Amino acid sequence: MRSLSGNQLIQDHIIIELFGLLFVVVFVFAAINIFKTSRRIGSFQDRIFDQIEKEIDRTEQQEISDHNRPRNYNCDQCGAALGDNSEVSPSGDFKCTYCNKWSNIHS
Ligand SMILES: [Zn+2]
Repeated sequence: MRSLSGNQLIQDHIIIELFGLLFVVVFVFAAINIFKTSRRIGSFQDRIFDQIEKEIDRTEQQEISDHNRPRNYNCDQCGAALGDNSEVSPSGDFKCTYCNKWSNIHS
């Protein structure tokens, strides 16, 4: 009886140690997982921030190009100034808001 309870004690001890080891292993894996996940989230954040920065850059460039739009041009036909609302095509054509004729800012 005594030796049996002694064996029982040893078995209990082994089980507790195994459980302890299992907990350590699980904990280590969890830590690794958290680390990996946080790194993935980090790179995900980087990508998002990159995209936002690009978007901001593009918006700024758009504003600059809007700002650089020619304002001091006059209609070739009637001499009216190019209005703020008149569209200028990429090739520089614009429609006069007074005489509705086409002029070109490069001409
Ligand atoms: Zn005109």
